[in-house]
Amino acid sequence: MADPFIDIGANLTDQSFDHDRETVIENAFDKGLEAIIVTSSSIKDTKKAISLAKQYPGKLWATAGIHPHNAELTDKSFEQDLSKLLHQNEVIALGECGLDYFRNFSSKEAQKIVFEKQLILSVELQLPLFLHQRDAHDDFLSMLKEHCTHPVKGVAHCFTGTKEQLKSYLDAGLYIGITGWVCDSRRNMDLLDAIKYLPKDRLLIETDAPYLMPRLLAKQLKTRRNEPQFLGEIANELAIQMQTNISELSAITLENSKNLFDRLG
Ligand SMILES: [Zn+2]
Repeated sequence: MADPFIDIGANLTDQSFDHDRETVIENAFDKGLEAIIVTSSSIKDTKKAISLAKQYPGKLWATAGIHPHNAELTDKSFEQDLSKLLHQNEVIALGECGLDYFRNFSSKEAQKIVFEKQLILSVELQLPLFLHQRDAHDDFLSMLKEHCTHPVKGVAHCFTGTKEQLKSYLDAGLYIGITGWVCDSRRNMDLLDAIKYLPKDRLLIETDAPYLMPRLLAKQLKTRRNEPQFLGEIANELAIQMQTNISELSAITLENSKNLFDRLG
């Protein structure tokens, strides 16, 4: 990848990277990544992400937030703890936060309470949102409308939905994060259809590593663990789908990343 990219979402604190995290990060930068945003899913995880980001100043950034899966695990002091972490220099966005009714690891009620508090915090601190939504589109959208100012400053990460869902996110003001889902011909039909309606100035690109390894690459390399260095595979597929080339895609996604995540600029 000669053209620079920013991976706006990689779960680099995941234990699957415990034995070779530094190599994974170095390989990503060798492949031309300009920066990586390390996503967090809990208070504990956020602390890990921040200390990792401190080791690569200006190149690794962290999100700080509570994933809906962990909503029931939070204690009463989470807002205070989170607010402190959100003031750290390495933190670039609030998230992952949102709603996930697909797995329902936490009850819907708990998810909504924790999401609402994070939305209010993001408005207070004027931080962009790193948003996760699965099978909860209507509740998710109405909570954004209720608690955020318009346009909502945030990214719908790992978007895999329909063109109708895409349009409602665009109307809300969101950026759209595309992952290796786009490379999976068994299940990317909705997404490919939606992408036709995605304006280039709202596009962001992410691996969601270690998840969502691009399918053909997984076969080739005989591993299911995704890494930021494989972002180019997603970029190549997106360039085809959006009828553009890698250089333009690089320039546009860099600009979009810097527009949304103030500290990158
Ligand atoms: Zn997510």
